[in-house]
Amino acid sequence: MPNKTPVPDTLHTIAVAVQTPAHSGMGDLLSYLAPAPLPAGTLVRVPLGQREVLGVVWDTPETAQVNEGTAPLNLRPISSVLEGLPPLDAAWRDLVAFAARYYQRSLGELALSALPPQLRDLSPVQLARRLRRTPAVESNTQNATKNIATTPEQSKAIAQISSENGPFVLFGSTGSGKTEVYLRCVQQVLEQAPHTQALVMVPEINLTPQLEDRFTARFAPQYGAQAVVSLHSGMTNPQRLKNWLAAHTGQARIVLGTRMAIFASMPGLRLIVVDEEHDPSYKQQEGARYSARDLAVWRGRAQNAKVILGSATPSLESWHASRPATAQDPEGGRYVRLHMPSRIGQGLLPRVRRVDMTHQPRRTVFSAPLLAAITERVARGEQSMVLLNRRGYAPVLQCADCGWKSDCPHCSAHQVFHKTDRTLRCHHCGTTHRVPRSCPTCGSPDIVPLGRGTEQLEEQLGQLMAGVLRPDGTPARIARIDADTTRLKGALQSQLAQVHAGEVDVLVGTQMIAKGHDFRRITLVAAVQPDGALFSSDFRAAERLFALLMQAAGRAGRDAAYMAAQGSGCEMWVQTQHPKHVVFEALRQHDYPAFAEQQLAERAAAAMPPFAYQALVRADARSQEVAQGFLRAASTAAHTAGLPGLEHVTLYPPIPLTIQRVANVERAQMLIESPHRAALQRFLAAWQAVLQTTRADPAHKGLLRWLVDVDPLAI
Ligand SMILES: [Zn+2]
Ligand SMILES: [Zn+2]
Repeated sequence: MPNKTPVPDTLHTIAVAVQTPAHSGMGDLLSYLAPAPLPAGTLVRVPLGQREVLGVVWDTPETAQVNEGTAPLNLRPISSVLEGLPPLDAAWRDLVAFAARYYQRSLGELALSALPPQLRDLSPVQLARRLRRTPAVESNTQNATKNIATTPEQSKAIAQISSENGPFVLFGSTGSGKTEVYLRCVQQVLEQAPHTQALVMVPEINLTPQLEDRFTARFAPQYGAQAVVSLHSGMTNPQRLKNWLAAHTGQARIVLGTRMAIFASMPGLRLIVVDEEHDPSYKQQEGARYSARDLAVWRGRAQNAKVILGSATPSLESWHASRPATAQDPEGGRYVRLHMPSRIGQGLLPRVRRVDMTHQPRRTVFSAPLLAAITERVARGEQSMVLLNRRGYAPVLQCADCGWKSDCPHCSAHQVFHKTDRTLRCHHCGTTHRVPRSCPTCGSPDIVPLGRGTEQLEEQLGQLMAGVLRPDGTPARIARIDADTTRLKGALQSQLAQVHAGEVDVLVGTQMIAKGHDFRRITLVAAVQPDGALFSSDFRAAERLFALLMQAAGRAGRDAAYMAAQGSGCEMWVQTQHPKHVVFEALRQHDYPAFAEQQLAERAAAAMPPFAYQALVRADARSQEVAQGFLRAASTAAHTAGLPGLEHVTLYPPIPLTIQRVANVERAQMLIESPHRAALQRFLAAWQAVLQTTRADPAHKGLLRWLVDVDPLAI
């Protein structure tokens, strides 16, 4: 397609980051011609093949070079400049460049995916219109809000955060008032100067609507309602663009968001809060597999912003990094640990009761003592919460005669039985079938569910509690919240509202209900079948289970006044075959530090993270042979080439993933490990080219895709 743009006498070559396909080998930056020098960070529209795409002008030594009248013939001019938008600053570009390097992605892919999607489709004229629409900043110092008093623990944490550099690990038990500490630190930042900004990240914003309300209530009176904006994937594209622009132009002083918000352009950034920092959802699981928590620490240091990582059960990485100095370890960790052990106005932590299921009749779902305890609570008008981390009715259907199982035809996994709509659904590829009337193999009508999910739990509890009455003589009400009941927009909010309004006596659900909700009247929490995680092949499973149970326990008895009025203590019940397991022992004592010490000792002995650094290379193909063959070849090639860092790096043999086949694609992975992060990074950077060459070899023609996951969360 010939370009008709008139070529001025003097043209400037500029480097532009554009979204190129992964592993396309096109390089990180493309060169274009511009009639005038453009500052790095300027957004431009440029031709790419037959299309016109959004790009970001990037810094290169050549930017200053002027090709007087002798523009290289193969370079095309840019199409337009998105004027009126301040350039993305060096801090933002540094962050994006670092993330691309560290997570082994192309710079253009990362830069463009960090921008709001709608920006890609706007012409300069449309953007100018958007920018005009944003109202001016209004700030009203008359309306300074009155703060509630802080406890000595909170005051100490706040003082330390304002006087030291951090990064800080705010280790506070559930209900210790971490949010108030965040609010105070944000306030201090906003008072520093008229342009300062704070970023507050949460794992899932839809689960914590109260947080947004609290920030708005605290800061809107003084700084205006537009000073607080959200950024998360649940928003519409226009909303997201509007809020992104507000952050970029400095109009928004506070950004509340999920992991994607770590890439928000915030020129005045002075504070980053990562709440529930241990939560796995801070790790992106597709595309660039970044950890928003780890990037927060990097960004904080690079942009001179303080960083607070808050949790009642910090990740073992953060816990280890915040270890105090000792005689044996005079340096200590790089992070500063702040401890807030007390629960404010929320009574005591629940008493933990373990039921030894080896003493219960086989196939018992609800042990008699647990059922009695729930019944008692219902009769007193209190609420209970029952956790099971598996949705659906039963994980598999089986034929009692021939042993047929409801396997997914496309995956190495069972199709889950959903009784409500009589379907068999694969939770990996989504394939859905009607439940057969008889066994597809032998014709026997005797097909039965094996194991149980939340649907069945709800049903069984309903049968067991039939006849149990509430204080007003009406029957007990049971409800379920999981990914199946909350598929429709707004469903979760309305179901949560029902629980808050006291219209539910027993709430059954997956880990979704253990997170963040401030249920005031829950006095009993039960995990009916947590043992699966104890013997998982994933070395982080115990850590995650402990965090989940602690978080769930924290849901009980959050309202001290209510608890006092009821006169009953709150309880956390665990049904297990292994009551003496360290997870449950530590849970009983609410002793995260003891649990962490034990786990860290195990990890140190086995040289696992945080004492080693890992990356996974995954290969997808139609057959395991092809997938594993590619990985093996790439490994051999790395050794043949004697890549840098290799002397400190171990490449393990390729293995199939736990769920080896999904949607007819065979998946294999190879673990790469090193005691030194820098060596691993050096190796991975050099290995990229080798992987691409290996990919191009006709021997690996059947390979569908490959990807690198740095610091993977699941092995
Ligand atoms: Zn059969
Ligand atoms: Zn499937």
